[in-house]
Amino acid sequence: MENKDDIRLLNSEQLEQFFIDNNQKKYRVDQVLDWVWNKGVDNFSQMSNLSDNLRNLLNKEFVLNKPIEIKSYKSIDGTIKYSIQLFDKNFIEAVLIPSKNRITACISSQVGCSLDCKFCATSRLIRKRNLLFYEIFDQLFYLNEQSKFYFKRKISNVVFMGMGEPLLNFKNVVEAIKKMKMECGLKLSAKKITISTSGIPKVIKQIANENLNCNLAVSLHSAIQKTRQIIMPFSEKFPLEDLIESLKYWYKVTKKKILYEYIIFDGINDNIEHIKALVKICKILPCKVNFIEYNPTGEEIFRQCKVEKLQLYQRHLSSEGIVNTFRVSRGRDIKAACGQLINSNKAG
Ligand code: SAH
Repeated sequence: MENKDDIRLLNSEQLEQFFIDNNQKKYRVDQVLDWVWNKGVDNFSQMSNLSDNLRNLLNKEFVLNKPIEIKSYKSIDGTIKYSIQLFDKNFIEAVLIPSKNRITACISSQVGCSLDCKFCATSRLIRKRNLLFYEIFDQLFYLNEQSKFYFKRKISNVVFMGMGEPLLNFKNVVEAIKKMKMECGLKLSAKKITISTSGIPKVIKQIANENLNCNLAVSLHSAIQKTRQIIMPFSEKFPLEDLIESLKYWYKVTKKKILYEYIIFDGINDNIEHIKALVKICKILPCKVNFIEYNPTGEEIFRQCKVEKLQLYQRHLSSEGIVNTFRVSRGRDIKAACGQLINSNKAG
């Protein structure tokens, strides 16, 4: 691998300085930024409005660390999963989910994951590294091109529900979101971007302070600490009390309601005690509950609850005025659904 920086690590001031130091015209900066962020070029030779001299200079000094290869897998329900081999040969996955009113891009924030949610296949992968902000951005750029090609529409929504824990890669996620809002021809509204976290209280407060205006989803799965620790052992270090305290801060600063994600597991969190605990937590702050279908991961410790249990939960929540929905999984046949991203096709 070449030991040069990706040109996208330089902001416009730094790029301008580089151009001045190398006797190049300042207005070239905007052209170069346009090529890398709006047009998404793979190499400097594609920057056709620059002189040969300048293209050679950029090529000598910088790289563009684009993915080596991207393979796609199509589900019978229209979902498309992308297996992306990064410039350093690591693999990640991203998913394009078309529906009637929206095209959602589900993107990854880390190579692997350092958390240990017992129901999630990605947690079985070692966290190799954080994605750089331009690698997060590249997923979206590529998925948007694919969306235009297949569905004749741009991406409308972005969810950080792919591989990894976005709040453990806070800086790159924030930087990538800023780029998504401004660049790439998407001009995506932050209101359409959702960060999903398993609940890292300190970083929830930090992200609130960033003033991004995006949404926050919290993978709650149990409102009882003892049970939550069984299904998400890392949460011993981040007790529910601290999580709720950080969410209060989030709401105070952003005025945005919280989306709680919740899987009801057979015999684990499907009784009335758990329902009451969830109702209690939901009453603390404006929120919505999204029940998620449990997707098989290949090594099942847990099972999806019986449908009557879901109905019981929904009845209780609705009678208390708590908005709740049930999300049907997409792309299970290609292992593209929540919790199934494990680079299973990488040898294929
Ligand atoms: N680390 C982040 C984002 C990645 S996981 C988080 O935990 O929120 C995205 C969502 O998929 C989370 O809500 C997670 O709890 C859920 N999930 C993980 N494994 C799942 C499975 N087997 N079935 C259904 N949802 C799952």
